[in-house]
Amino acid sequence: MIADTTSMLQSNANIFENRRNDCPLCSSHIIYPAHTIKRWSIPFTVDRCADCGFMFMNPRFRDEFIQSFYTKEYFTGNAEYSYCDERSKERYFQHVWEARLNIIRKYIRGGNLLDIGCAFGGFLGAASKYFEVAGIEPSEYAGLYAKKKFGNRIHHGTLENHSFPHDSFLVITMIEVLEHLPNPVFAIKECYRLLQKGGLLVIQTANMEGLQAKLLGERYAYYMPGHLSYFPKRTLANLLSAVGFTRIKTFHPVEFGLWPKLRKSQGDFKSFLDYRKWMRIAAYHYISKIHFGNFCTTSSMVMYAFK
Ligand SMILES: [Zn+2]
Repeated sequence: MIADTTSMLQSNANIFENRRNDCPLCSSHIIYPAHTIKRWSIPFTVDRCADCGFMFMNPRFRDEFIQSFYTKEYFTGNAEYSYCDERSKERYFQHVWEARLNIIRKYIRGGNLLDIGCAFGGFLGAASKYFEVAGIEPSEYAGLYAKKKFGNRIHHGTLENHSFPHDSFLVITMIEVLEHLPNPVFAIKECYRLLQKGGLLVIQTANMEGLQAKLLGERYAYYMPGHLSYFPKRTLANLLSAVGFTRIKTFHPVEFGLWPKLRKSQGDFKSFLDYRKWMRIAAYHYISKIHFGNFCTTSSMVMYAFK
């Protein structure tokens, strides 16, 4: 894809929106360039808001250009910027999905669950043992695949153009999705409207306040062409509570334990020697547990919030 981008650049020099001069979250005009990310075919700049801490790609890629990322090449790992296709490794991913569902079900035993950015519907498949599942997926390649499995419960589109009734879900999950959205305020408000009273929103995204993100600066791997919105933990918690969410809880690095992560990693193993990776994964997991106040060692986090 960004393999295709060179031709796109030549045919359409203007792949960026106009640069904005205010923060998309709090409208403050005190924004400044934090990083210029140069390791991709198309360099881009991430600004930081001095008032609320929100970070965002500015200027950001146009919607049509962003849509061009999420092709078959993105999902099969054959693009410069790509995603791990869960379909071939489902039995390994299953460990993480089940572990997450176990924690979710400590709060909500069953009911309607919506996964935003459901890709091929792997997580929904695991969740369907306990919940009536639905999904939203903007990529045609992944969304149509999920639709074959779950029918009209999958909306191929976005939070802006779905027809799910409000107050209709008890759980909404957004796993590594919020950072892809150009308008996260709208997304959080829409999740609030879609949830029933007492419903749970689960968000996984990077915490830009974590020492990992701070130390690595522009080398931090999370700065990717598809990532438009970056949250410090405090900023996300403040947004959730401004929209009306309560009982906001953050987990470091994730809400479940180490073992499911180790099992998932086996999906990438090619030889017995790969078990050495378990040391690194375990170290990262336990180092992530060191946090106090707003200080966090790593940038992995999962947030739970209730309506
Ligand atoms: Zn701001």
